[in-house]
Amino acid sequence: MVSTVFDTNHQSLITNHDNNLTISEANSLTIHKISTLKKICPFLCISFFLFGKLSIAQSPQDSISKLDLLFIGDVMGHKPQIKSAEIIKNKQYNYDPCFQYVKPIIEKADLAIANLEVTLPGEPPYLGYPSFRSPNELASALRNAGFDILVTANNHSNDAGKKGVINTISTSQKNGFYQTGTFKNIEDRELFYPLIVYKNDFKIAFLNYTYGTNSIKTQAPTFVNYLDEELMEKDMEMARQLQPDAIIVIAHWGKEYELLENKKQTKVTKKLFDWGADLVIGMHPHVVQPIREMEIVQKDSTIKKTLVTYSLGNFISNQTKLNTDGGLMFEISLLKNNTTGKVTLGEHHYIPIWRYIYKGSKKKRTYFAIPISAFENGKEKWLAMDSSNKKAMQAFAKTTRDHLKKFDSSERKIELEELGDVPKLRLPKPKKIKEKK
Ligand SMILES: [Zn+2]
Repeated sequence: MVSTVFDTNHQSLITNHDNNLTISEANSLTIHKISTLKKICPFLCISFFLFGKLSIAQSPQDSISKLDLLFIGDVMGHKPQIKSAEIIKNKQYNYDPCFQYVKPIIEKADLAIANLEVTLPGEPPYLGYPSFRSPNELASALRNAGFDILVTANNHSNDAGKKGVINTISTSQKNGFYQTGTFKNIEDRELFYPLIVYKNDFKIAFLNYTYGTNSIKTQAPTFVNYLDEELMEKDMEMARQLQPDAIIVIAHWGKEYELLENKKQTKVTKKLFDWGADLVIGMHPHVVQPIREMEIVQKDSTIKKTLVTYSLGNFISNQTKLNTDGGLMFEISLLKNNTTGKVTLGEHHYIPIWRYIYKGSKKKRTYFAIPISAFENGKEKWLAMDSSNKKAMQAFAKTTRDHLKKFDSSERKIELEELGDVPKLRLPKPKKIKEKK
């Protein structure tokens, strides 16, 4: 079997893998949620930490490599967003401002991963819901903002038919992205899937699936990865054969607008962990769902720490339903002990993001993804936020923070200074009203 990967400059095709690699066993037997384990067997848990694999003491002289990952939720492209990015209708668009307040955070990550929930057909008409067709400039703006990987298997993958699938992939590649989840043809899938990315001292496998494509059939020769357990099990076996340092699965699933995961998400997550996944990142419900750490007790009684984020909500959109006006950036580090080669999950945090619609001069709208913590408690003035926007942002922040308190991750607060020279927004000057004589 030959698998080809991109180098870290996202350009050349370099590596192949042969059949002689041993299949590392996905030998997990049982999944326990940490908190449940702690409740039912505090001593057992302590024993696990003392005598399980986690107890393998890291000697102080061991050098540790770190890889910082950043994930976001759905990048949507509703009609008003297209309109707001328009410079010359059907010809020229600019989405760069949308990401100017998150760019410094994204750029700091070693790998930043986004779900592109629109097609880029490369020509008008550009449309919003229900058949998302956005201009190519959306991809260049995401790249300029610092994203490295686009996953494209979602329920809108087929919105612009075969041409949409193909041009979305070509445009992503032209902009220097790694891309996966949809393919121009089956041969490309065989060559490029799972997506293997080398970064720093790490080799990471990325896989991406969607529950469906809104009943729009995939047209040959294109291929969209569906959440088909048989297919996924085979792909995961392939991923393990490639012996990456970590396997990350990005799943498009769940019930829209539900704040908790459903049974199907839980079931698939468990299977993915059994098949060797280290991290499962979910998208689609347009609202934020739980972040849960899980420990896998493996066949040899060692314990592996894994983590799932069931839904990261919306990154940018024009949705107005309750809790859809924002989402999370999720940061997590991978740590590699260079003596033992063992890779573990390191610290993780979420950063609440809110979609701010700024109305500037001539009522032109601009859509911004903003890190809430940098612009609250009086700092809203930087963005010329009126009281109704302030209220809406605070309401989203409160719901998100209260909700996530119950689960396994904490917030990383972003200071305004961390964003560097933040462009300050101004409200348009009020028109002078002529006094009647
Ligand atoms: Zn979706």
